[in-house]
Amino acid sequence: MIIILKDGASEKQINELVDWLHGFNVKTNLVDGVHQRIIGLIGDTTKIDMEKIQAKEIVEQVKRVQEPYKNANRRFHPDDTVIEVRGRKIGGGTLNVIAGPCSVETEDQIITTAVAVKEAGATMLRGGAFKPRTSPYAFQGLGKEGIRLLCEARKVTGLPIVTEIMDLSDIDLFADVDIVQVGARNMQNFTLLKALGRCDKPVLLKRGLSSTLQELLMSAEYIMSEGNNKVILCERGIRTFEPATRNTLDISAVPLLKQKTHLPVIVDPSHATGIASLVEPMCLGAVAVGCDGLEIEVHNDPKNAWSDGAQSLTPSQFAEAMKKIAAQAEFSGRPIDKGQE
Ligand code: PEP
Ligand code: MN
Repeated sequence: MIIILKDGASEKQINELVDWLHGFNVKTNLVDGVHQRIIGLIGDTTKIDMEKIQAKEIVEQVKRVQEPYKNANRRFHPDDTVIEVRGRKIGGGTLNVIAGPCSVETEDQIITTAVAVKEAGATMLRGGAFKPRTSPYAFQGLGKEGIRLLCEARKVTGLPIVTEIMDLSDIDLFADVDIVQVGARNMQNFTLLKALGRCDKPVLLKRGLSSTLQELLMSAEYIMSEGNNKVILCERGIRTFEPATRNTLDISAVPLLKQKTHLPVIVDPSHATGIASLVEPMCLGAVAVGCDGLEIEVHNDPKNAWSDGAQSLTPSQFAEAMKKIAAQAEFSGRPIDKGQE
């Protein structure tokens, strides 16, 4: 962090500022430029509130030269984080494919879909039990019963289950869930993030509809700062001026995030595009740019799905896509995770 001082700052004022800064456990370096005096801060500045410095009378400007997140930062943890879930490894150099319906609807629907995605090569099962819907009149999810049905589908297929939490008060219902998803709309629900940080469960954190990558990383930092380092980031499209797709898939987010953080990065092409025919090509693109996993909506009968039918693949479309995804994954040096054999 560097602090640019105003012209005319007195030695006494500067000394007071420097003494105050030393209280944050950092070293300082005063640099006299031709036109400006600058204080450089050396050490961990992540916990320093820039606004407090900016508010000092003699401060012209404060700039961060390092990222404000530490736990999620690759600079401090060069090795990739690998998250183990029932023998599968997310971020360990393989590709995980999380597939399943947008919402859990009935026992028959989730079991049929789970069996089909397993057969096609999916490595995990998704399904929403608590649904964040734009309209309060739309199907809100089966809640607790939805989680019970996912557990049944896991019994039948052996696939680990991934499902979204919306409210802190439901947290006990997620005890048997393998990966807890935080949806785009809750990416900045800081109370929820902190509570998940105190759990020993992997968290799949989706990028907010209009969130920057730094904001996504700061949300990961919220979880990690409470002690839970098992965070998986998910690019799921951002809102832009383009109405032809539901969102715009920010494909460059994948390699950029992989540079900035050691956390695994996955891509959800279903919510990114909103169009079933675009899902396969976006999967191939995502794998090519180095994602650690995909989250894909698949429904046994998309035309009659209770949510997101238009972006859901049929089991046979998914099976076809998986053949190409597997080939692309192999080619990219990140073969599909086989789990414990
Ligand atoms: C979902 O995955 O079910 C979902 C609601 O996605 P998002 O939070 O990305 O909109
Ligand atoms: Mn959906």
